[in-house]
Amino acid sequence: HRLNQAALAALPPDVIRPGYDRAGTRIGIVHIGVGAFHRAHQAVYVDDVLASEPDWAICGVSLNSCDVRDALQPQDGLYTLALLGQNPSLRVIGSIRELLFAREQRDEVLRRLADPLVRIVTLTITEKGYCLAGADLDLAHPEIVHDLASPDAPNGAIGYVVAGLAARRKLHLPPYTVLSCDNLPENGRKLARAVVQYAWKVDPDLARWIEAEVAFPCSMVDSITPATDEALRERVATQLACTDAWPVQREAYTQWVVEDSFCNGRPALERVGVTLSADIAGYDRAKLRLLNAPHSALAYLGALMEIETVAQAMATPVLAAFVERLMHDGIVPNVKAPAGFNAGAYVEAILARFRNPAIQHRLLQIAWDGSQKLPVRLLGTIGDALAAGHPIDLLCLPVAAWMQFVRRQARNGVTLVDPMAEVLAEVGRATTGDANDDVARFLALDSIFAPLSADDRFVDAVRVAYVRLGDGTPAAVWRALSD
Ligand code: NAD
Repeated sequence: HRLNQAALAALPPDVIRPGYDRAGTRIGIVHIGVGAFHRAHQAVYVDDVLASEPDWAICGVSLNSCDVRDALQPQDGLYTLALLGQNPSLRVIGSIRELLFAREQRDEVLRRLADPLVRIVTLTITEKGYCLAGADLDLAHPEIVHDLASPDAPNGAIGYVVAGLAARRKLHLPPYTVLSCDNLPENGRKLARAVVQYAWKVDPDLARWIEAEVAFPCSMVDSITPATDEALRERVATQLACTDAWPVQREAYTQWVVEDSFCNGRPALERVGVTLSADIAGYDRAKLRLLNAPHSALAYLGALMEIETVAQAMATPVLAAFVERLMHDGIVPNVKAPAGFNAGAYVEAILARFRNPAIQHRLLQIAWDGSQKLPVRLLGTIGDALAAGHPIDLLCLPVAAWMQFVRRQARNGVTLVDPMAEVLAEVGRATTGDANDDVARFLALDSIFAPLSADDRFVDAVRVAYVRLGDGTPAAVWRALSD
């Protein structure tokens, strides 16, 4: 039989389930984009909220596919969350009370958005869903063109957010807060700009009202949520003794930092582990520099050593020891942490996450797009370290490892996944193994290395690191890390 409200009572005792009366909850949040991440992250925080505040249940809206609605509606919105790690656990989440597929249920979605009880609209629609061209709304995007031609019958996320706000303004209702939970820096600012630019085309008075009245807090989210696979479905079915059409899984670690700027009330998020901060940019930076930079270091050094996943890299003592040193001695002294941020605890949590063998995070995937990632992940820290007169030798080893990685892929004829793939392949093929020449070729790529490449201390340190990695073979990298 199937997981649903009636099946809850009979679940095995070790399965955690909603500790509140679901029937007594009311929908206060509309969420657009009910993908795995929303169900494994925000919906879980809201499940905790509902234990003391029943007015914040979720209506989940899908814009592109009926799959989530069709899987979860027969389950009364219930689904299982599997936490991956040392103490794997299963928890049934009850916070999603309604599921709508907008293409078939547009009126119901619009009615929900205009419901005075709804006070927050959240989104996880991936970067594409925002229809941005640079910092602006892409007015030529087919979805935007369509929605602007019929703003009362939209298809896209921006169109729905604005149609709902327009309806509320007409009804003299207070607006809802619009909260992006997607992984893009300055997500609230970008969303606000897109919404206002769209509304401007619909009705300038509406746009002015939105600018004056609607809050678009920024947020930072973090919790690795691998897509659901058959193995998870089977494990959940066995442990629950009933079937769940769409369970989700994530690592135990979770972080949600939200700017405390809401225009129509909010639940007590701070009571369920959410950090409220005015400095989301600071948290984004800390994540890039303390989490993503060591990830890249593992990716390039690990790929040279022919290691496949992050957990396997962390199980390789020389590499794990290097990354720990890189974080503690190379990065932490140069991070400007947001107020109240505990860098030491953050580093320990990150190292534990990297070691988690239940998460199969492939190093080659992390290695993608190095030309875009190096500047924000590593080179900014190096610039700050130089300005402060701090040593940069640890920080330059992963930079040199990236160069060796590009060289190796080019010489093996492997196409890089990178917007600069062609240029990089050319540089990689032109390398000779001579550190002076090779490093100079790479550092001439101004879009990546300017202005750092003008600093002799940087050039020297990269050259030393490049020499240290020898010919970039697994044995050579091993020796370099063991020094
Ligand atoms: P998913 O594939 O399970 O879900 C994607 C969701 O986005 C679906 O609901 C889909 O309908 C919607 N969507 C896709 N394109 C859209 C569009 N053009 N317009 C509107 N909606 C659209 O993926 P996921 O794991 O849930 O990830 C979704 C987002 O969550 C990511 O893009 C990222 O911003 C954020 N996130 C994910 C993770 C993770 O580990 N999976 C971690 C942090 C943040």
